[in-house]
Amino acid sequence: MPRTVTGIDPTVLREEFPALHQVVNGDPLVYLDNAATTQKPRAVLDALRHFYEHDNANVHRGIHELSRRATDAFEAARIRVASWVNAPNASEVVWTRGTTEGINLVAYAWGLSNLRKGDEIVVSVMEHHSNLIPWQLVCGHTGARLRHVDIDDQGRLRLDQLEDVLSDRTRIVSIGHVSNSIGTINPVREIVDLAKTVGALTVVDGAQGAPHLPVDVQALGCDFYAFSGHKMCGPTGIGALWGKRELLDSMEPYQGGGEMISVVRLEESTWAEVPHKFEAGTPNIAGAVGFAAAVDYLEDVGRDAIRRHEVELTRHAMDRLGELPWIRIFGPPEPEARSGVVAFEVEGAHPHDVATILDSEGIAIRAGHHCTQPLMRRLGVSATSRASFYIYNTEAEIDRMVRALHTVHGIFGTHA
Ligand code: PLP
Repeated sequence: MPRTVTGIDPTVLREEFPALHQVVNGDPLVYLDNAATTQKPRAVLDALRHFYEHDNANVHRGIHELSRRATDAFEAARIRVASWVNAPNASEVVWTRGTTEGINLVAYAWGLSNLRKGDEIVVSVMEHHSNLIPWQLVCGHTGARLRHVDIDDQGRLRLDQLEDVLSDRTRIVSIGHVSNSIGTINPVREIVDLAKTVGALTVVDGAQGAPHLPVDVQALGCDFYAFSGHKMCGPTGIGALWGKRELLDSMEPYQGGGEMISVVRLEESTWAEVPHKFEAGTPNIAGAVGFAAAVDYLEDVGRDAIRRHEVELTRHAMDRLGELPWIRIFGPPEPEARSGVVAFEVEGAHPHDVATILDSEGIAIRAGHHCTQPLMRRLGVSATSRASFYIYNTEAEIDRMVRALHTVHGIFGTHA
């Protein structure tokens, strides 16, 4: 794997990502929308192709060679993905469609049978809707109540408020590891320790944590950690939920169907062991295999190198954007306090206009509320522009974005 002294050499590494090598609207593509989804290296594309060309069959069912191979690949993938977050045992990792399904699984499978009127669930104001709506729905079913913790003016979680909100009514604290909108890295270990003082369970939305930071669920001490394959070079439609074995064992199934049963009678049935109890129906077998290939790939790049590279890119973007008085950057001022996400506002220009002009020069960023409407309200805006980086991005790409922002300012600046 190509490396510089400090980490990754993206100019060499990006050769492995076919989608990055295209002309978009007349210019070479600059892909800065990695918090939405990442591009896929050849190793992942090859793993998907190899699976479908050689091993494709249903899992845990057939007595034939292909089914055996598919099952072996599927279960080996579980072990590989479990290792990415240092899960103590791969049987504690449930395949899901992604982070959204992982959080819904906990909310319904744990929440419906354990929450009562008067119980409280704590989230923060910066949660992605995936870590808010499932809890709202379960509150509606159970009579539990949602509480939230604010951020300070630099986009950091107010731990003092978390302490105030926690009480013996708190049953769950569910917090994002990293904000997809402003990049803030939350102090998960401290949050977990605080939650434990009142006996609450902790759920971590790891959609933006697992791809960008070294994650060790045992060191974090949380009860559940959900993440998505597609945000870390893997395929869409596959994710993983890690949960503590005794909790998963105690929970009712989330969905019913094939694969998740032990004995079925017309009136009642018994369930398979964890994790299969939560995996009703034919799973995304190729997706799991591709996810494991993505983990192999990222392990090879190196977790610390990924982190260092993103901090450097973030520092460069914040320095360059910080020179422009007509740009306001949201979130913590220190690059080390965030993942590779820089959200900003261009004076006088709507974020959709910003993204449209950048797109016309082949530069992909995201504009909108980023599935965090409460956070937008808290920041006092309806939308932001967001550039988000991954292993293959370069400082030169950020410079191209900054040049294009000058064009935006040239058009809209005088109307500010
Ligand atoms: N949580 C965060 C912080 C996210 O950024 C996202 C995706 O954007 C999700 C949850 C949902 O992930 P998925 O759509 O893969 O389920």
